[in-house]
Formats: sequence, C-alpha cells, structure tokens
Amino acid sequence: MQTTVRAAITFDGVGLHSGRPARLTIRPAGAEHGIWFKRTDIRLGDTLVPARWDVVQRSPLCTRIVNAAGVEVQTVEHVMAALAGCGVHNALVEIDGPEVPILDGSAAPFVRGILGRGLRTLAAPVRALQILKPVEVRTDAGWARLSPHDGVRMDFHISFADAAIGTQRKSLDLSNGAFVRELSDSRTFCRKADVDTMRAHGLALGGTLDNAVVVEGARVLTPGGLRHADEAVRHKMLDALGDLALAGHPVLGLYEGHKAGHAMTNLLLHEVFATDGAARLVEIGPEMRARLPGVGIQREEIPAVA
Ligand SMILES: [Zn+2]
Repeated sequence: MQTTVRAAITFDGVGLHSGRPARLTIRPAGAEHGIWFKRTDIRLGDTLVPARWDVVQRSPLCTRIVNAAGVEVQTVEHVMAALAGCGVHNALVEIDGPEVPILDGSAAPFVRGILGRGLRTLAAPVRALQILKPVEVRTDAGWARLSPHDGVRMDFHISFADAAIGTQRKSLDLSNGAFVRELSDSRTFCRKADVDTMRAHGLALGGTLDNAVVVEGARVLTPGGLRHADEAVRHKMLDALGDLALAGHPVLGLYEGHKAGHAMTNLLLHEVFATDGAARLVEIGPEMRARLPGVGIQREEIPAVA
C-alpha cells in the first residue's frame, strides 16, 4: 500500500550551490498526493512545485524543478532518493528558500529522519511504472538505459582521470532496503580543480569538506577519507534513484548508467514517456511488494556514519 510519513520532520542546513541557510520540513500527505515541494518564503502566487520529471529545468550540477509561475527548488535529488529509498509515496516538502539543504552531502540524514519518525500506511495500492521495452539516451558524455526487469535494479559505471576515483562499477538490486544499507550514506564528490571553477560561476558556495568528498589526483582531501572505497559510484546511483523518482512512481526495471548524470537521467525519463509502449502503470500486489525499495528496512540498518 502507499505510505506517507507519520509526522512532520525538519532538517536545517545550507544549500550546496547557493550557500544559503535552508530549513526543510517533510509533512504527511494523503494517498495519490505524490511528492510536492512548497516554498514557504514566497507569499504570493503558486508556491507549489511538483516533484515531476516534466518540470525539471537545465541546471549544470543538480536537479532543479520549476513550476509554471517560475517558482523553483534546486538540488532535490538527495531528499527524493531518501523518500524513494524509504518507500514514501506521498509527502509535502516545505522549504524556506530556493535550495534543499545539503546536510552531509549524502541521503543518510534524510533517511535517518524519515525512518526515525516512521511511516503510515494509506488506503490505496502503490502503482509502479513498469518498463516494457528498452529505452536509451546517448550524449558525448555517456549513456543511460532503462530495460524491462522484474524488480528495481541498477548498474552504474563511472570513469575519472583522478586516481582517487578512477574507474568504478557497481550493480545492485534495490529491493529490501538495499538503498538504505548500501547507497544512502555515500556523499557527493568533486575534484579540487573544479571547486574554483564552480565558485567562479557562483556555484558550490555552500560546499565544504564536511558535505562533499573532494579529491585531487590520488588524494582524498576530505578529513576521515571515504566511507566506501567506491563511494563515488554509489553516490551516482543514489542520485539516479532520486532523479528516477521524478517519474512520480517507483520505476520497475533495470537502470544502466555509463558516465550518466542528472541531465541524462531526466532525458531518459522524457524518452520513456515519449515512446509508445515503453512503459505502463501497474498496481503492486503482495508478491511484488518486496521487490520495491523501502520495504523491510529497520532503523538500525542505517549505516553508522556522520
Ligand atoms: Zn548527488
């Protein structure tokens, strides 16, 4: 059945790119509501922004959603991944500024908050977007593909010149809490050389060594080092789950990403919805339930970090 959070949960932090303080509150919502953001700092006009693939606008390093009135929320991917990975289908996410707080750079603080509060079951079945035939997008940077699969699975491949990241590949079945155990604590990462460039463009103003893994060649500059040897590819999978959640339903299929990023995953969703017969909505019965992310997780399973 569909779920929502049992009670409101608040998170305080700063936006990674804007550097602005932000308070985010996840509130319960009814069945069939879906996930919506609401800007509480704007008094007039339409302040609701749907967490949906078709309102994503181009943004260099994060996922930014914008409603018809031009009201935006950026860097939604980590909180979206936490909601999807914990199996929360309905919520109103209030925020008092334009960017979701980055917290520790992973989804673990959101997961800890959500699972700590607990979920409430609603009187409506979950519908998933079942992929019926392979759909693929390619750019000069890489490619991403969704194919039919009897569950939620990911296979991700990255390759960076910096030896601290190098080539990493990971495959994971996201059923039964695998997201929480294996992906949720992996942090966003960047190269030291890119930090200055981003700052010059007014980005990453809130970035610190406490909320991002910064690498330079073979060295990891972040104190304490990595949480996983392949933390970078795990974080890319976390991002992909958050970006796929903008389909508005769990996506039943195999997602493969080769040097893919936010823009490419969004392009892929556009392609799925534009292709006849590529996908259909199916009601999830008891036998399929255990194959979705978010089922069967205990709070004790959240990785003990940060
Ligand atoms: Zn990310």
